[in-house]
Amino acid sequence: MKSVFEEPAQVRPPNPDESAVRPLPVTASGVSEVLELLAQADGITLLRNVPLSHYTRFGIGGPADLYVETPDPARFAEALAIVRASGLDSVVIGGGTNLIVADEGFRGVCLKLTSNRIAADGCRVEVECGASLQELVDFTVQRGLKGLETMTGIPGSAGAAIYGNAGAYGHSIQERIRNVRFLDSSSDAGEAVREFTNSECRFHYRESIFKRNKAWIILSAVLDMEPGDPDQLRETADRILSTRNRKYPPSMRCAGSIFKNFLLSELPPHLAAEVPSTAIIEGKVPSAWFLEQVGAKGMKRGGIEVADYHANLIYNGGGGTARDLVSIVNELKERVWQRWGIPLEEEVQYVGFARSARHA
Ligand SMILES: Cc1cc2nc3c(=O)[nH]c(=O)nc-3n(C[C@H](O)[C@H](O)[C@H](O)COP(=O)(O)OP(=O)(O)OC[C@H]3O[C@@H](n4cnc5c(N)ncnc54)[C@H](O)[C@@H]3O)c2cc1C
Repeated sequence: MKSVFEEPAQVRPPNPDESAVRPLPVTASGVSEVLELLAQADGITLLRNVPLSHYTRFGIGGPADLYVETPDPARFAEALAIVRASGLDSVVIGGGTNLIVADEGFRGVCLKLTSNRIAADGCRVEVECGASLQELVDFTVQRGLKGLETMTGIPGSAGAAIYGNAGAYGHSIQERIRNVRFLDSSSDAGEAVREFTNSECRFHYRESIFKRNKAWIILSAVLDMEPGDPDQLRETADRILSTRNRKYPPSMRCAGSIFKNFLLSELPPHLAAEVPSTAIIEGKVPSAWFLEQVGAKGMKRGGIEVADYHANLIYNGGGGTARDLVSIVNELKERVWQRWGIPLEEEVQYVGFARSARHA
Protein backbone atom coordinates (compact mmCIF):
# COMPACT_ATOMS: atom_id res chain seq x y z
CA MET A 1 0.00 0.00 0.00
CA LYS A 2 1.24 3.49 -0.82
CA SER A 3 2.44 5.42 2.24
CA VAL A 4 0.64 8.63 3.17
CA PHE A 5 3.94 10.07 4.40
CA GLU A 6 5.75 12.31 1.93
CA GLU A 7 8.69 9.94 2.26
CA PRO A 8 7.77 6.34 2.92
CA ALA A 9 8.39 5.24 6.48
CA GLN A 10 10.56 2.32 5.54
CA VAL A 11 14.14 1.24 5.56
CA ARG A 12 15.84 3.17 2.79
CA PRO A 13 18.44 1.54 0.56
CA PRO A 14 21.92 2.81 1.46
CA ASN A 15 22.99 5.84 -0.57
CA PRO A 16 26.75 5.77 -1.10
CA ASP A 17 26.94 9.56 -1.48
CA GLU A 18 25.40 10.19 1.89
CA SER A 19 27.61 9.37 4.85
CA ALA A 20 24.59 9.43 7.17
CA VAL A 21 23.29 6.26 5.55
CA ARG A 22 26.61 4.60 4.75
CA PRO A 23 26.17 0.88 5.51
CA LEU A 24 28.33 -0.33 8.35
CA PRO A 25 30.25 -3.57 8.29
CA VAL A 26 28.38 -6.15 10.31
CA THR A 27 31.15 -8.33 11.67
CA ALA A 28 31.74 -7.93 15.37
CA SER A 29 31.58 -10.04 18.47
CA GLY A 30 31.45 -8.92 22.07
CA VAL A 31 30.19 -5.70 23.55
CA SER A 32 33.35 -3.64 22.93
CA GLU A 33 33.55 -4.56 19.26
CA VAL A 34 29.86 -3.86 18.70
CA LEU A 35 30.29 -0.55 20.49
CA GLU A 36 33.20 0.31 18.24
CA LEU A 37 31.24 -0.49 15.09
CA LEU A 38 28.12 1.34 16.15
CA ALA A 39 30.19 4.34 17.21
CA GLN A 40 31.04 4.86 13.52
CA ALA A 41 27.40 5.47 12.69
CA ASP A 42 25.84 8.92 12.57
CA GLY A 43 22.39 9.49 13.94
CA ILE A 44 22.63 6.89 16.69
CA THR A 45 22.66 7.53 20.42
CA LEU A 46 24.95 4.93 21.92
CA LEU A 47 25.36 4.40 25.66
CA ARG A 48 27.27 1.79 27.61
CA ASN A 49 26.09 0.33 30.95
CA VAL A 50 23.02 2.51 31.00
CA PRO A 51 20.62 1.82 33.91
CA LEU A 52 17.35 0.69 32.38
CA SER A 53 15.55 2.03 35.45
CA HIS A 54 15.82 5.37 33.59
CA TYR A 55 13.81 3.89 30.74
CA THR A 56 11.03 2.10 32.63
CA ARG A 57 7.95 3.56 34.23
CA PHE A 58 8.51 1.29 37.25
CA GLY A 59 11.87 3.05 37.68
CA ILE A 60 13.36 -0.42 38.14
CA GLY A 61 16.06 -2.26 36.21
CA GLY A 62 19.82 -2.69 36.17
CA PRO A 63 22.14 -1.71 33.32
CA ALA A 64 22.05 -2.83 29.71
CA ASP A 65 25.51 -3.52 28.31
CA LEU A 66 24.67 -1.23 25.40
CA TYR A 67 21.77 1.07 24.64
CA VAL A 68 21.11 2.16 21.04
CA GLU A 69 18.52 4.74 20.06
CA THR A 70 17.83 6.28 16.69
CA PRO A 71 14.96 8.02 14.90
CA ASP A 72 16.09 6.55 11.57
CA PRO A 73 14.66 3.14 10.56
CA ALA A 74 17.61 2.55 8.19
CA ARG A 75 20.10 3.18 10.98
CA PHE A 76 18.06 1.00 13.30
CA ALA A 77 18.13 -1.88 10.80
CA GLU A 78 21.87 -1.53 10.42
CA ALA A 79 22.41 -1.49 14.16
CA LEU A 80 20.22 -4.54 14.59
CA ALA A 81 22.16 -6.36 11.85
CA ILE A 82 25.42 -5.65 13.65
CA VAL A 83 24.03 -6.81 16.97
CA ARG A 84 22.56 -9.97 15.48
CA ALA A 85 25.76 -10.83 13.64
CA SER A 86 27.69 -10.43 16.90
CA GLY A 87 25.57 -13.04 18.64
CA LEU A 88 24.77 -10.66 21.50
CA ASP A 89 21.24 -10.73 22.87
CA SER A 90 19.00 -7.83 21.98
CA VAL A 91 15.72 -6.38 23.15
CA VAL A 92 13.64 -3.62 21.59
CA ILE A 93 11.80 -1.27 23.88
CA GLY A 94 9.32 1.55 23.43
CA GLY A 95 8.36 3.86 26.29
CA GLY A 96 9.16 1.23 28.95
CA THR A 97 5.68 1.48 30.49
CA ASN A 98 4.99 -2.25 30.39
CA LEU A 99 8.36 -3.69 31.37
CA ILE A 100 9.82 -5.44 34.38
CA VAL A 101 13.59 -5.28 33.97
CA ALA A 102 15.79 -7.45 36.19
CA ASP A 103 17.85 -5.76 38.92
CA GLU A 104 20.89 -7.31 37.22
CA GLY A 105 19.94 -5.53 33.99
CA PHE A 106 20.21 -6.90 30.47
CA ARG A 107 23.31 -8.65 29.13
CA GLY A 108 23.17 -7.49 25.56
CA VAL A 109 21.93 -4.55 23.54
CA CYS A 110 18.73 -2.64 24.20
CA LEU A 111 17.45 -0.83 21.11
CA LYS A 112 14.82 1.82 20.63
CA LEU A 113 13.47 3.23 17.36
CA THR A 114 12.06 6.70 17.91
CA SER A 115 10.78 7.60 14.43
CA ASN A 116 7.48 9.27 15.24
CA ARG A 117 5.75 10.77 12.24
CA ILE A 118 1.99 10.77 12.00
CA ALA A 119 0.19 11.72 8.79
CA ALA A 120 -3.37 11.59 7.52
CA ASP A 121 -4.97 11.27 4.12
CA GLY A 122 -8.71 11.57 4.64
CA CYS A 123 -9.71 8.85 7.09
CA ARG A 124 -6.46 6.95 6.60
CA VAL A 125 -3.72 7.61 9.15
CA GLU A 126 -0.15 6.39 9.10
CA VAL A 127 1.94 6.33 12.25
CA GLU A 128 5.53 5.41 12.95
CA CYS A 129 6.27 3.14 15.88
CA GLY A 130 8.01 5.75 18.05
CA ALA A 131 5.06 8.15 18.17
CA SER A 132 3.33 7.97 21.51
CA LEU A 133 -0.13 6.44 21.45
CA GLN A 134 -1.39 9.63 23.09
CA GLU A 135 0.03 11.74 20.24
CA LEU A 136 -1.79 9.47 17.82
CA VAL A 137 -5.03 9.74 19.80
CA ASP A 138 -4.75 13.54 19.96
CA PHE A 139 -3.88 13.76 16.25
CA THR A 140 -7.00 11.81 15.28
CA VAL A 141 -9.31 13.52 17.76
CA GLN A 142 -8.25 16.99 16.55
CA ARG A 143 -9.00 16.00 12.95
CA GLY A 144 -12.39 14.55 13.79
CA LEU A 145 -11.25 10.99 13.12
CA LYS A 146 -13.17 8.57 15.28
CA GLY A 147 -11.92 5.25 16.62
CA LEU A 148 -9.04 5.80 19.02
CA GLU A 149 -10.57 8.27 21.48
CA THR A 150 -11.21 5.63 24.17
CA MET A 151 -7.50 4.84 24.17
CA THR A 152 -6.60 8.21 25.56
CA GLY A 153 -4.26 8.02 28.53
CA ILE A 154 -2.75 4.62 27.68
CA PRO A 155 0.95 5.37 28.02
CA GLY A 156 3.64 4.14 25.65
CA SER A 157 4.43 4.06 21.97
CA ALA A 158 2.25 3.23 18.98
CA GLY A 159 4.59 0.34 18.08
CA ALA A 160 4.17 -1.38 21.43
CA ALA A 161 0.43 -0.66 21.40
CA ILE A 162 0.19 -2.76 18.23
CA TYR A 163 2.54 -5.41 19.64
CA GLY A 164 0.29 -5.86 22.70
CA ASN A 165 -3.00 -4.89 21.02
CA ALA A 166 -3.52 -2.17 23.63
CA GLY A 167 -7.01 -1.02 24.40
CA ALA A 168 -9.45 0.32 26.93
CA TYR A 169 -13.15 0.97 27.42
CA GLY A 170 -14.27 -1.81 25.11
CA HIS A 171 -11.99 -1.00 22.18
CA SER A 172 -8.52 -1.99 21.14
CA ILE A 173 -6.13 -0.78 18.48
CA GLN A 174 -6.72 -3.87 16.31
CA GLU A 175 -10.10 -2.44 15.27
CA ARG A 176 -8.33 0.35 13.39
CA ILE A 177 -5.28 -1.37 11.94
CA ARG A 178 -5.25 -1.74 8.17
CA ASN A 179 -1.70 -2.99 7.89
CA VAL A 180 1.57 -3.05 9.80
CA ARG A 181 5.04 -2.65 8.33
CA PHE A 182 7.79 -4.39 10.25
CA LEU A 183 11.46 -5.28 10.13
CA ASP A 184 12.00 -9.02 10.01
CA SER A 185 15.39 -9.72 11.53
CA SER A 186 14.81 -13.46 11.84
CA SER A 187 16.03 -14.40 8.39
CA ASP A 188 19.58 -15.53 7.69
CA ALA A 189 19.43 -13.38 4.58
CA GLY A 190 19.45 -10.24 6.75
CA GLU A 191 16.87 -7.66 7.78
CA ALA A 192 13.87 -7.35 5.48
CA VAL A 193 10.89 -4.99 5.60
CA ARG A 194 7.58 -6.85 5.44
CA GLU A 195 3.95 -5.87 5.71
CA PHE A 196 1.00 -7.65 7.29
CA THR A 197 -2.67 -7.02 6.83
CA ASN A 198 -4.88 -6.83 9.91
CA SER A 199 -5.81 -10.51 9.77
CA GLU A 200 -2.18 -11.54 9.36
CA CYS A 201 -1.37 -9.72 12.61
CA ARG A 202 -3.49 -12.38 14.45
CA PHE A 203 -4.83 -9.90 16.96
CA HIS A 204 -6.53 -11.21 20.04
CA TYR A 205 -7.13 -9.78 23.50
CA ARG A 206 -3.73 -8.13 24.36
CA GLU A 207 -2.08 -10.37 21.78
CA SER A 208 -0.65 -10.14 18.30
CA ILE A 209 1.66 -12.24 16.17
CA PHE A 210 4.48 -9.84 17.10
CA LYS A 211 4.39 -11.00 20.72
CA ARG A 212 5.30 -14.47 19.53
CA ASN A 213 8.00 -13.29 17.10
CA LYS A 214 10.39 -11.06 18.97
CA ALA A 215 12.62 -10.64 15.90
CA TRP A 216 9.85 -8.76 14.09
CA ILE A 217 10.13 -5.08 14.90
CA ILE A 218 7.14 -2.90 14.10
CA LEU A 219 8.14 0.15 12.03
CA SER A 220 4.83 1.77 11.18
CA ALA A 221 1.16 1.11 10.65
CA VAL A 222 -1.75 2.36 8.58
CA LEU A 223 -5.06 2.83 10.38
CA ASP A 224 -8.54 3.26 8.97
CA MET A 225 -10.60 5.76 10.96
CA GLU A 226 -14.18 7.01 10.65
CA PRO A 227 -15.39 10.57 10.36
CA GLY A 228 -16.53 12.02 13.69
CA ASP A 229 -17.18 15.29 15.46
CA PRO A 230 -13.94 16.66 16.97
CA ASP A 231 -15.75 18.27 19.94
CA GLN A 232 -17.57 15.07 20.83
CA LEU A 233 -14.44 13.00 20.43
CA ARG A 234 -12.53 15.44 22.65
CA GLU A 235 -15.26 15.31 25.27
CA THR A 236 -15.13 11.48 25.35
CA ALA A 237 -11.33 11.48 25.50
CA ASP A 238 -11.22 14.10 28.28
CA ARG A 239 -13.81 12.25 30.37
CA ILE A 240 -11.87 9.00 30.07
CA LEU A 241 -8.56 10.71 30.80
CA SER A 242 -9.78 12.25 34.03
CA THR A 243 -11.11 8.86 35.23
CA ARG A 244 -7.83 7.21 34.28
CA ASN A 245 -5.73 9.86 36.00
CA ARG A 246 -7.55 9.15 39.25
CA LYS A 247 -6.92 5.42 38.91
CA TYR A 248 -3.35 5.75 37.63
CA PRO A 249 -1.90 9.06 38.81
CA PRO A 250 0.62 10.15 36.13
CA SER A 251 3.48 10.03 38.63
CA MET A 252 2.69 6.45 39.73
CA ARG A 253 5.56 4.07 38.94
CA CYS A 254 3.62 1.10 37.62
CA ALA A 255 2.68 -0.79 34.46
CA GLY A 256 -1.07 -0.34 34.61
CA SER A 257 -2.63 -3.78 35.05
CA ILE A 258 0.01 -6.40 35.80
CA PHE A 259 -2.15 -9.34 34.71
CA LYS A 260 -4.42 -9.83 31.72
CA ASN A 261 -8.10 -10.19 32.44
CA PHE A 262 -9.96 -13.41 31.64
CA LEU A 263 -12.34 -13.72 28.72
CA LEU A 264 -15.61 -14.94 30.22
CA SER A 265 -16.04 -17.33 27.30
CA GLU A 266 -12.70 -19.00 28.13
CA LEU A 267 -13.30 -19.52 31.88
CA PRO A 268 -14.50 -22.95 33.05
CA PRO A 269 -18.31 -22.63 33.44
CA HIS A 270 -18.32 -23.53 37.17
CA LEU A 271 -15.86 -20.70 37.79
CA ALA A 272 -17.68 -18.22 35.59
CA ALA A 273 -20.78 -18.95 37.66
CA GLU A 274 -18.92 -17.94 40.85
CA VAL A 275 -18.17 -14.45 39.54
CA PRO A 276 -20.87 -11.89 40.36
CA SER A 277 -22.39 -10.46 37.18
CA THR A 278 -21.56 -6.95 38.38
CA ALA A 279 -17.84 -7.84 38.18
CA ILE A 280 -18.04 -8.83 34.49
CA ILE A 281 -17.09 -6.01 32.14
CA GLU A 282 -17.46 -6.20 28.35
CA GLY A 283 -17.23 -10.00 28.33
CA LYS A 284 -14.19 -10.07 30.56
CA VAL A 285 -13.70 -11.09 34.17
CA PRO A 286 -11.14 -8.75 35.67
CA SER A 287 -8.16 -10.51 37.23
CA ALA A 288 -8.63 -7.93 39.98
CA TRP A 289 -11.74 -9.83 41.11
CA PHE A 290 -9.79 -13.04 41.73
CA LEU A 291 -6.87 -11.12 43.22
CA GLU A 292 -9.13 -9.32 45.62
CA GLN A 293 -10.52 -12.64 46.93
CA VAL A 294 -6.98 -13.81 47.75
CA GLY A 295 -6.11 -10.68 49.71
CA ALA A 296 -3.92 -8.88 47.16
CA LYS A 297 -5.04 -5.33 47.95
CA GLY A 298 -2.52 -3.43 50.06
CA MET A 299 0.14 -6.18 49.94
CA LYS A 300 3.65 -4.82 50.35
CA ARG A 301 7.13 -6.21 49.83
CA GLY A 302 10.06 -3.82 50.19
CA GLY A 303 9.15 -0.77 48.12
CA ILE A 304 6.62 -2.67 46.01
CA GLU A 305 2.93 -2.31 46.85
CA VAL A 306 -0.41 -3.51 45.55
CA ALA A 307 -2.82 -0.56 45.40
CA ASP A 308 -5.37 -0.69 48.21
CA TYR A 309 -8.10 0.30 45.72
CA HIS A 310 -7.17 -1.98 42.79
CA ALA A 311 -5.89 -5.53 43.27
CA ASN A 312 -4.36 -5.75 39.76
CA LEU A 313 -2.28 -2.59 40.16
CA ILE A 314 1.22 -3.03 41.55
CA TYR A 315 3.50 -0.03 41.90
CA ASN A 316 6.89 1.01 43.10
CA GLY A 317 6.23 3.17 46.14
CA GLY A 318 9.95 4.03 46.39
CA GLY A 319 13.13 1.97 46.43
CA GLY A 320 11.35 -1.04 44.88
CA THR A 321 13.37 -3.81 43.26
CA ALA A 322 12.57 -6.23 40.46
CA ARG A 323 13.20 -9.04 42.93
CA ASP A 324 10.37 -7.85 45.20
CA LEU A 325 8.14 -7.08 42.25
CA VAL A 326 8.56 -10.54 40.75
CA SER A 327 8.14 -12.12 44.15
CA ILE A 328 4.74 -10.44 44.64
CA VAL A 329 3.69 -11.29 41.07
CA ASN A 330 4.60 -14.96 41.62
CA GLU A 331 2.91 -15.10 45.00
CA LEU A 332 -0.32 -13.71 43.54
CA LYS A 333 -0.21 -16.20 40.67
CA GLU A 334 0.29 -19.01 43.17
CA ARG A 335 -2.58 -17.86 45.42
CA VAL A 336 -5.02 -17.68 42.49
CA TRP A 337 -3.80 -21.03 41.15
CA GLN A 338 -4.18 -22.72 44.56
CA ARG A 339 -7.69 -21.40 45.06
CA TRP A 340 -9.18 -21.74 41.55
CA GLY A 341 -6.69 -23.68 39.42
CA ILE A 342 -6.52 -20.93 36.80
CA PRO A 343 -3.28 -19.37 35.57
CA LEU A 344 -2.94 -15.61 35.77
CA GLU A 345 -0.97 -14.37 32.79
CA GLU A 346 1.17 -11.27 32.91
CA GLU A 347 0.34 -8.42 30.57
CA VAL A 348 3.68 -6.91 31.53
CA GLN A 349 6.80 -8.10 29.65
CA TYR A 350 10.03 -9.27 31.25
CA VAL A 351 13.51 -8.15 30.26
CA GLY A 352 16.76 -9.65 31.54
CA PHE A 353 15.27 -12.71 33.25
CA ALA A 354 15.84 -16.34 32.44
CA ARG A 355 12.35 -17.84 32.33
CA SER A 356 13.13 -20.09 35.28
CA ALA A 357 14.42 -17.16 37.36
CA ARG A 358 11.06 -15.37 37.04
CA HIS A 359 9.37 -18.30 38.66
CA ALA A 360 11.98 -19.02 41.33
C1 LIG B 1 -0.58 3.75 34.09
C2 LIG B 1 -0.68 2.73 33.01
C3 LIG B 1 -1.90 2.42 32.47
C4 LIG B 1 -2.01 1.48 31.43
N1 LIG B 1 -3.24 1.22 30.90
C5 LIG B 1 -3.35 0.37 29.86
C6 LIG B 1 -4.63 0.15 29.25
O1 LIG B 1 -5.63 0.69 29.65
N2 LIG B 1 -4.68 -0.70 28.20
C7 LIG B 1 -3.56 -1.33 27.71
O2 LIG B 1 -3.68 -2.07 26.73
N3 LIG B 1 -2.35 -1.13 28.26
C8 LIG B 1 -2.21 -0.30 29.32
N4 LIG B 1 -0.99 -0.09 29.90
C9 LIG B 1 0.17 -0.87 29.43
C10 LIG B 1 1.08 -0.10 28.43
O3 LIG B 1 0.78 1.22 28.37
C11 LIG B 1 0.96 -0.71 27.06
O4 LIG B 1 1.32 -2.05 27.09
C12 LIG B 1 1.85 0.01 26.05
O5 LIG B 1 1.44 -0.38 24.77
C13 LIG B 1 3.33 -0.23 26.22
O6 LIG B 1 4.02 0.70 25.41
P1 LIG B 1 5.57 1.03 25.59
O7 LIG B 1 6.00 1.82 24.40
O8 LIG B 1 5.82 1.63 26.90
O9 LIG B 1 6.21 -0.42 25.47
P2 LIG B 1 7.37 -1.09 26.36
O10 LIG B 1 6.91 -1.23 27.76
O11 LIG B 1 8.64 -0.35 26.12
O12 LIG B 1 7.45 -2.49 25.67
C14 LIG B 1 6.39 -3.40 25.77
C15 LIG B 1 6.66 -4.55 24.80
O13 LIG B 1 6.56 -4.06 23.47
C16 LIG B 1 7.68 -4.48 22.71
N5 LIG B 1 7.93 -3.45 21.70
C17 LIG B 1 8.11 -2.12 21.93
N6 LIG B 1 8.25 -1.46 20.75
C18 LIG B 1 8.15 -2.41 19.78
C19 LIG B 1 8.22 -2.37 18.36
N7 LIG B 1 8.41 -1.23 17.67
N8 LIG B 1 8.10 -3.53 17.68
C20 LIG B 1 7.91 -4.71 18.33
N9 LIG B 1 7.85 -4.81 19.67
C21 LIG B 1 7.95 -3.66 20.38
C22 LIG B 1 8.81 -4.61 23.72
O14 LIG B 1 9.83 -5.49 23.29
C23 LIG B 1 8.06 -5.15 24.93
O15 LIG B 1 7.96 -6.56 24.87
C24 LIG B 1 -0.86 0.84 30.94
C25 LIG B 1 0.40 1.16 31.48
C26 LIG B 1 0.50 2.10 32.51
C27 LIG B 1 1.83 2.44 33.07
